[in-house]
Amino acid sequence: MNNFIKYIFILFTILLFTACTHKAPITKRNQMILMSQSQELALGEKTYNNTLKKSKVIIGTVYANKIKEIGFRIAKVVNKKNYKWEFNLVKNKQKNAFCLPGGKVVVYTGILQVAKNEHQLATVISHEIAHALARHGAERVSSSMIANGVQIISNIALGSKAPHLTKSFNIAYGLGTQYGIHLPYGRLQENEADEIGIHLMHQAGYDINEALSFWVNMSKGKINTNEFFSTHPSSKTRIKNIKKVINSIKRSSSRNTKQNSNNIIGKKIK
Ligand SMILES: [Zn+2]
Repeated sequence: MNNFIKYIFILFTILLFTACTHKAPITKRNQMILMSQSQELALGEKTYNNTLKKSKVIIGTVYANKIKEIGFRIAKVVNKKNYKWEFNLVKNKQKNAFCLPGGKVVVYTGILQVAKNEHQLATVISHEIAHALARHGAERVSSSMIANGVQIISNIALGSKAPHLTKSFNIAYGLGTQYGIHLPYGRLQENEADEIGIHLMHQAGYDINEALSFWVNMSKGKINTNEFFSTHPSSKTRIKNIKKVINSIKRSSSRNTKQNSNNIIGKKIK
């Protein structure tokens, strides 16, 4: 029995040590993730297929094609070889969208009322991609694993991890709850998804000023009418943070442009 406890302790330490090596992209925030990416991707794929089976997926319309076009353009920037990107428009009047692990994105038709142009659609898609890229779901699963501590670890040690992992995954993604899939992430993860998302849309060549217009549109009439915000806690602070991100990207872009033109001028002089 003593050996068993020792084994669990060692396993727990290894898991924590492994977890500390994760960093969110762009923000470089340290993350505690106790779930392998292959487990996460497999669960994401399974859940996505089940969700699509129960949904009315719209195929071949201008909007459905546009969502795929924007999605793949941003995915190209992300360049994640182990992700199998899919972008689907689903008939649902909620103003919402979500992304499951491995790059499985769903946009509800309701969001088309708010996203007024291609750049605003890119804003919502890149925000969702950012959640998947930063493995926010797996991070939530890990927090719930830590909360359940010894019990889960014991189950891993006993080799019966799958049902518990699946359960934690479902809870983390809000599956089967009144929220549908996009359960509120913490404020930290939401801000991070905003920040990463805006960087991604910028890298993909979209107009980041439209990101602000989109989130301002979304924040209007949010009470009871805007499901995205019922799962995405929002405030003036959030809009303020988005402005900061946009301004910092603009500043560094103009610095780069200046540097480039200086280089060109320098070359000419030489
Ligand atoms: Zn979000």
